Amino acid sequence: MAQRKENIVIFPFMAQGHIIPFLALAIQIQQRKKYTITFVNTPLNIKKLSSSLPPNSSIRLVEIPFCSSDHGLPPDTENTDAIPYHLVIRLLEASTSLRPSFKKLIQDITEEQNGQRPLCIIADIFFGWTASVAKELNVFHAIFSGASGYGLGCYYSLWMNLPHRKFNSNEFSLPDFPEASSIHITQLATNILEADGADAWSIYQKENLSGWLKSDGILFNTLEELDDIGLLYFRRKLGRPAWPIGPVLLPMESRARVGKGGISPDRRCIEWLSAKPVNSVLFVSFGSMNTISASQMMNLAMGLEASGKNFIWVVRPPIGFDINSEFRAKEWLPEGFEERIKDSRRGFLVYNWAPQVEILSHKSLSAFLTHCGWNSVLEALSHGVPMIGWPMAAEQFFNVKFLEEKVGVCVEIARGKSCEVRYEDVVAKIELVMNETQVGKDMRRKACQVMEMIKTAMTEEEGGKGSSVKAMDDFFSAAMSTREKRESRGKKIGA
Ligand code: UDP
Repeated sequence: MAQRKENIVIFPFMAQGHIIPFLALAIQIQQRKKYTITFVNTPLNIKKLSSSLPPNSSIRLVEIPFCSSDHGLPPDTENTDAIPYHLVIRLLEASTSLRPSFKKLIQDITEEQNGQRPLCIIADIFFGWTASVAKELNVFHAIFSGASGYGLGCYYSLWMNLPHRKFNSNEFSLPDFPEASSIHITQLATNILEADGADAWSIYQKENLSGWLKSDGILFNTLEELDDIGLLYFRRKLGRPAWPIGPVLLPMESRARVGKGGISPDRRCIEWLSAKPVNSVLFVSFGSMNTISASQMMNLAMGLEASGKNFIWVVRPPIGFDINSEFRAKEWLPEGFEERIKDSRRGFLVYNWAPQVEILSHKSLSAFLTHCGWNSVLEALSHGVPMIGWPMAAEQFFNVKFLEEKVGVCVEIARGKSCEVRYEDVVAKIELVMNETQVGKDMRRKACQVMEMIKTAMTEEEGGKGSSVKAMDDFFSAAMSTREKRESRGKKIGA
């Protein structure tokens, strides 16, 4: 008789930057062929996802009900890509209302499987509350962090301690994470900077991050060899395993179907890229939900033009305008910019959403000017691409710090969405990284070393398995043995 497959329940927060790595994780687990996967989200996200799954995928997409207007959000708000940043906290708060439906879903799955509970629940870093649901239902639970160990360590420590509120200085260290070296006040995202313990973000995070203590461990989209400082922090802090299983990246064929708002990315930039010399193009993009200020945009454009380098730039309306509205190049870019870069074929503007991994893996690409969201970082490093960092939010500031200070594959160009950016500095940083300078050469060499490190960590060969593959094995063994222990305890109690 064929052995029944164990069920894994996967539940990301409703944001592209979260759904994408969770989908990648689901696809990776599916390749192990031993598990069935239930991918849970709200109806609109599930609808979008159904076209992103690989053909013949057995991943089961399951909706749980959500009505955004019940929570003071615009109708049909089910993803951060549909709202301005200040409403993200409201979406987070609203997401805790999913608890009863999520619990019922796990109970229904158990019933469908004749009493066999799912092997584990893998939930988002923002869904700490799911750990107590798992506890109530006696199901193994793990958080999956799409963020780096180092970045998330700084982020966790900041929210739990709010150290910037305690010291009268612009620079301070993290009380429980001294390995991270000092943090500057300008590296704090606005919500952390303004946090005083009583605001909506502080309240949400305190509850959410404390919820992690009920989880059985954390899966990280990172690798041990690169990110040991952050992983050790969590092992020490939570007293739980931290399994570095990354990079978990979406296969190319699924990526083509995952665009912002379900729109497929514009692939004309690939043709443009293919006509450029090897290692000659800078890719500029700030992730799935960020944009820069109007004055920053103007200076970045001037800097790109003055650098004389080839570039692809994913442009979005600047801060203060609807991010999903049409891009008004005449208003937001220097006069004649668009025509000049088009005529000279020096630059290519992508409106809204680009095929990022295809660009990063292209032989014509040289460097990546990025906000250093961790998915973008992993995608760059998997292809040996050095970075110019411009962090905007959350733990991105610490990713840049880590990549610059500890790994040597990044230089910071600007910090945040309101700092002054001078076009001369943009030119200088681009030249530093893309020209044959010592810094540029070192960065390229190190980025290639990390690319090799990643390949080794992901090796699947029996007998020579890489660290990330082993960590994934360890995670499943832990889930299995915990279940066996709990079941035998249950039997003893029942006997
Ligand atoms: N992305 C993309 N095209 C774009 C912008 C982003 O494919 O034009 C993808 C990118 O490859 C990455 C994700 O969206 O997988 C962004 O995640 P990241 O963690 O870098 O940043 P976030 O969007 O969460 O700030």
